[in-house]
Amino acid sequence: MKKILVLEDESSIRSFLVINLRRSGYEPIEAETGEEAFRQLQLHPDINLALLDIMLPDTDGFEVCRKIRASGSKMGIIMLTARSQEMDKVTGLMTGADDYVTKPLASIAELTARVDALYRRVGGGDNEDPTEIVRGAFRLSTRNRTLEKNGVRIRLTQVEYAIVKLFMDNPGKALSREEILSSVWGKDYNGELKIVDVNIRRLRLKVEDDPQNPTCITTVWGYGYKWGI
Ligand code: CA
Repeated sequence: MKKILVLEDESSIRSFLVINLRRSGYEPIEAETGEEAFRQLQLHPDINLALLDIMLPDTDGFEVCRKIRASGSKMGIIMLTARSQEMDKVTGLMTGADDYVTKPLASIAELTARVDALYRRVGGGDNEDPTEIVRGAFRLSTRNRTLEKNGVRIRLTQVEYAIVKLFMDNPGKALSREEILSSVWGKDYNGELKIVDVNIRRLRLKVEDDPQNPTCITTVWGYGYKWGI
């Protein structure tokens, strides 16, 4: 399903968006506050588009956008800006948004066209190949961005998904921590390498039979990690 997060606190606007997105084949996941938005993103790691309102009860859309990007997510983000506020657009794009639409919406067709275009760009469409990678007990769907182990779904964050995909694309190959960092977080990310280790540790808890003695994601001492022993 083409899941899209709809973060908008005004219920009339939210329902309007939801109804129309549903009509266009999306599965809208609704949130009224920033906090709820992050809860939904945790619950649905396969969300790959977000519509973010700016004025929210507990935070603002820019902050939400910044945090989504800080988590390493490359999901498509569209800001809902007020027509009069030209600065919103600049700020939105600075914080990592991909696009913006102005409220009140002139036409729903314009919104869905933007959403469709972005959806294609973030690679959530049907053109990704292969759509499934199977490695041993694991099955990774690149279409739904989901991972199954022995047929049981493992819930992953977008970052964890990206790490698993990188490993599965390179089975048995030792990947350096630098390589993992730049591939998953982007070349311009200048955070610490430690974030790689933290995510690997968390990922092991999810995928390994015995996280203390990993056999899926193994450590290559002094270098990085690899998929398999
Ligand atoms: Ca609002």
